Amino acid sequence: MDMSVVKRIPLYVQILAGMGLGIAVGLLALGNGLQEFVIDWIKPFGTIFMKLLKLIAMPLVLASLITGIVSLKDITRLSRMGGKTLLIYITTTVIAISLGLSVVNVIRPGEFLSQATREQLKEQYATGLHEKLSKASETIKNAGPLQFLEDMVPENIVLAASDTRMMLQVIFFAVMLGIALILIPAAKSQPLIHFFDALNEAILKMVDIIMLFAPVGVMALIAGVMVDVAGNNPASVWQVLYSLLMYSITVMIGLLLMLVFVYPSLIWMFAKRFSPLRFYRAISPAQLMAFSTSSSAAALPVTIERVEEHLGVSKEVSGFVLPLGATINMDGTSLYQAVATVFIAQAYGIDLNFSQQLTIIFTATLASIGSAAVPGAGLVMLIIVLNSVGLDPTGIALVMAPDRLLDMMRTTVNVTSDCAVATMIASSENGRIKMDNEIAMN
Ligand code: ASP
Repeated sequence: MDMSVVKRIPLYVQILAGMGLGIAVGLLALGNGLQEFVIDWIKPFGTIFMKLLKLIAMPLVLASLITGIVSLKDITRLSRMGGKTLLIYITTTVIAISLGLSVVNVIRPGEFLSQATREQLKEQYATGLHEKLSKASETIKNAGPLQFLEDMVPENIVLAASDTRMMLQVIFFAVMLGIALILIPAAKSQPLIHFFDALNEAILKMVDIIMLFAPVGVMALIAGVMVDVAGNNPASVWQVLYSLLMYSITVMIGLLLMLVFVYPSLIWMFAKRFSPLRFYRAISPAQLMAFSTSSSAAALPVTIERVEEHLGVSKEVSGFVLPLGATINMDGTSLYQAVATVFIAQAYGIDLNFSQQLTIIFTATLASIGSAAVPGAGLVMLIIVLNSVGLDPTGIALVMAPDRLLDMMRTTVNVTSDCAVATMIASSENGRIKMDNEIAMN
């Protein structure tokens, strides 16, 4: 095929086509008992794609954070931008949780579940649950109030860099190294700065190369997810999903409100009336990556590339704001945790009072910050939120079935939020972000 034709098709259209094909392949396989075929021959391409993205995520975090910090040139500017970034991140998270709480209190999806369904769900998910619970409760049992601070500090950078879930530790190291590079004489720091600069550029180029493979990778990921979720009994999935339909719809409505109202308004108000449509057009490949991989970390390379090269946000801002955001700013996850908690309470027939709902705002903020940017992390951290309002953590059995699908959606919101905040910070730091006609729109 003539490659120039493929090149002219916008990336998001290519990815959407991959998704459509993935759904078709998944349905076909489920309908004809070809699950094994998909697992053996198609899913591996999705896994490879995901691995490639994760492969470059960690060096990219290091390189982009260090070059971002160094280009700020002085510590006062760094702390001002850092403070502003954290403040906006927490604000968007609190908005997301409050929105989630409002939606779930209006729709009350927990009251749609019959007693029989509740029992059935608990039984069906009991096995997987024990594993998750014991892992999580170990962490929670030993956790003092300052555990999160302890967890942030690495004692071995090689170990920290070996696990996507420890991204925060790598960020810690990168920030310290960046600060140190600002403080030492330029003659000494230059070689290392050039090194990270070159690494940064090269990795962003790797993103371009990997994205050539995106349509196939996404097709395989989606087909793989469909077969995994359905297992050997496709019908049962639909039954469970159907019984959890109101809950899933509630989460989706919350997420949709964030996408349709909250971020566009924030961008319009705080990024010098930057057009939300342009914003979404520029970041759509990053959103689609988030959706198909369910991992903010895996989507991060694409997010950085889109925000820098298609939204025109400067490297110093995106290099700092985005890696941090992928790790701690999870509006979608926190909204989902709030909805899930109230849903589980409703299903148990428990009414959460106002102060308990305030507790949810507080703990879901922390739990979303603590959730790793990998698939399914938000579900595990949900246990913390359930504990905080005195609900039995086995309640997560009720919400496990549609979790993968909701994970895809909340990750999309997580990544959108990072991009929106980067745009706002860029506009406030640099006076402006590049205007539409200055950036090649893809
Ligand atoms: N998968 C989400 C992310 O990477 C985290 C979660 O499970 O909510 O952003």
